[in-house]
Amino acid sequence: MEKVLFLCHTDASGALPRAALEALSAAKELASAPGATLTAAVFGAGAGAAAATLGGAGAARVLATDGNDVEVPRFATDAAAATALARAAEATIVVAPHTSRLARVMAAVSLRLGGKIDTHVTAIRPGAAPAATRWLYRQRIEATLRRAERPWILLVDPGVAPAWQPGGEAGAVEAISVTAAATRTRVVGERTPGSGASTIRPDAKLLFVAGAGWTKKQADGKIHGEDAETLILGFLERAGASLGSSKSLVDQAGEGHAVLRFMSHLNQVGQTGSTPRHPKGLSTCCHGEEPHVVGWRFVRERRAVNLDPSCGWARGKADVLYVADAFAVMERVNALLVAKAAGK
Ligand SMILES: Cc1cc2nc3c(=O)[nH]c(=O)nc-3n(C[C@H](O)[C@H](O)[C@H](O)COP(=O)(O)OP(=O)(O)OC[C@H]3O[C@@H](n4cnc5c(N)ncnc54)[C@H](O)[C@@H]3O)c2cc1C
Repeated sequence: MEKVLFLCHTDASGALPRAALEALSAAKELASAPGATLTAAVFGAGAGAAAATLGGAGAARVLATDGNDVEVPRFATDAAAATALARAAEATIVVAPHTSRLARVMAAVSLRLGGKIDTHVTAIRPGAAPAATRWLYRQRIEATLRRAERPWILLVDPGVAPAWQPGGEAGAVEAISVTAAATRTRVVGERTPGSGASTIRPDAKLLFVAGAGWTKKQADGKIHGEDAETLILGFLERAGASLGSSKSLVDQAGEGHAVLRFMSHLNQVGQTGSTPRHPKGLSTCCHGEEPHVVGWRFVRERRAVNLDPSCGWARGKADVLYVADAFAVMERVNALLVAKAAGK
């Protein structure tokens, strides 16, 4: 008889992040097992109003903690709020989105509750002995985990479950108060990283990968770094795509070669980079070697543009390989996007 708690926080605008609505779908599935119950809990700025939107989610209770202490992300207050909500729900399993805010505190919350935690969960199976799956060893091994210890905290990766669609009547929300935590950290504001991160959009439908070819000598014997920057940034802006990179391209900065100025190691996809979960991917000027392509594991539709017909993408790693000059292709694609936006 599991008491499932869906736990999340609000974002800066007081809304529930998409990753939270995805984790809610996973929690609902877990609570669909016979005898299981579902409680939903939200903390953060505007948590009461955000929790009220969960009225149609089928939770027996909806809890919220807001107020000055949890308005901003901070370890001490977030950990205190999450612990209080899990205790109020008497949760045996806590399902929460793997956001950076929760990833920072939930291991401590698990310790305070005397429970166990598993992170980067990619699927949860309901049943008499619920199971969670996650990938290990750089996405090479998929493990199925079961635990006897309770409470069991599961941080669900973004992009692995469909987002729950809010609907139905606003529900009653129980306010849960939190004993004031001792705080030393005062949050004075937020600053967005200057490079790289602003081009990383986890919710984008398309991953656009740039490889080292963009900064290599082209047919005319010259490097066209500025053209590459204009084409790539223009495409990202028009298509709303997220930017990924090969390792070779982001490593070039340290080696004194031509670089794309908006690219950082945060963009790197692959064995020693990230494993994003966009539905579609377009690789350009990237050879498609295995240490890179392993990062595409969860990208379902893959296309690549490369001058080399025997590059790695041609060997079963892409659905479509366009053997073409990526400069020419992206210039044409950008022109089509401009025309489309103008309604032509
Ligand atoms: C332990 C280990 C871990 C690694 N981890 C990673 C990782 O996490 N991520 C990663 O990416 N790599 C990783 N690598 C490196 C990886 O093996 C490759 O070296 C790297 O991915 C190559 O990058 P690239 O394809 O951009 O560059 P290159 O191999 O230089 O390929 C450039 C490509 O651009 C094409 N090209 C050039 N001009 C054009 C044009 N005008 N139009 C179209 N195509 C053009 C060329 O045909 C070529 O295929 C790792 C390697 C090791 C050993």
